[in-house]
Amino acid sequence: MSHRRKFLQTSVTGAMALLLQRKALASVTLDKVPVINDPVVISTWDFGKAANAEAWKLLSTGGDVIDAVEAGVKVPEADPTNHSVGYGGFPDRDGKVTLDACIMEGTALNCGSVAFLENIVHPISVAKLVMQKTPHVMLVGEGALQFALANGFQKENLLTPESEKAWKEWLKTSQYAPVINIENQFKPVDPKQLPGGPNNHDTIGMLAIDKTGKMGGACTTSGAAWKMRGRVGDSPIIGAGLYVDGEVGAATSSGLGEEVIRTCGSHTVVELMRQGLSPEKACKNAVERIVNRNPERAKTLQVGFLALNKKGEYGAYAIHKGFTYSVKNGKEEKIYEAKAILT
Ligand code: ASP
Repeated sequence: MSHRRKFLQTSVTGAMALLLQRKALASVTLDKVPVINDPVVISTWDFGKAANAEAWKLLSTGGDVIDAVEAGVKVPEADPTNHSVGYGGFPDRDGKVTLDACIMEGTALNCGSVAFLENIVHPISVAKLVMQKTPHVMLVGEGALQFALANGFQKENLLTPESEKAWKEWLKTSQYAPVINIENQFKPVDPKQLPGGPNNHDTIGMLAIDKTGKMGGACTTSGAAWKMRGRVGDSPIIGAGLYVDGEVGAATSSGLGEEVIRTCGSHTVVELMRQGLSPEKACKNAVERIVNRNPERAKTLQVGFLALNKKGEYGAYAIHKGFTYSVKNGKEEKIYEAKAILT
């Protein structure tokens, strides 16, 4: 009996040890199993809400992050009432609408970009094809247009009557001040329309994580209104207007592109997150670099950064108040206003 008891005791102890061992093994194995993430998508400005909703259709049903961000930013690209992105965008000082866009995924750091592209409604889709079909990262101007046409895109007139009217109005003075959101000067009596005001719409930059945890981003714009012909801003520049590194997170920007290029803005934000800063603190630090270099000049211009880390946490910061961003995930669909360094 005592042998049997001992045998049973040993068996129970052995079984428990085995169970504990299996549990430990299971948790080790589980850590290595790809985590099924809650997708999230965030975009610059309040018009990002409609773009997020489009991206969400794909993200919530298991779609790929690159397809999702492309689908999302195509919404403002096709919207003629949005004067800072795609069709209906305000033209350069010669009356030509020229578009900049880029797209990036954070696993292999694949990316594609087009700049100074004319007559194509969806530059983001051309940027995606540059990424997928060419050995290059960036195509510009006539070459980008040829590539688009060779891949089935149609040439279209992007200058709407409304944008043409605004351009003709601007020609009366032809003043190009390096002030971003200059389109708002058409309604100077309304403080909400002043640069940095809540209705102040610019470039769309979109960042997302899909259900597999893959990160991606897209950025598209018609750039600064009344710019010099040939001017390219930060939006199509990988590391300036957009950067995505799936090991850390992603960042994008809106505002005066020259300042963002000078500081490699989005890359800076991602590297600050790599050092452990939260998305909001990383954005704040990047904005401070611009402000501290020339505080007087910073009073006249707007730059905002938006960031998402790989855990799905997000944040933003701007020079001036009024930089809004839209968030959509399984828990919320909201528009936030970023904190700002200056009032
Ligand atoms: N960043 C864009 C550019 O400089 C424009 C903007 O966001 O307002 O082209």
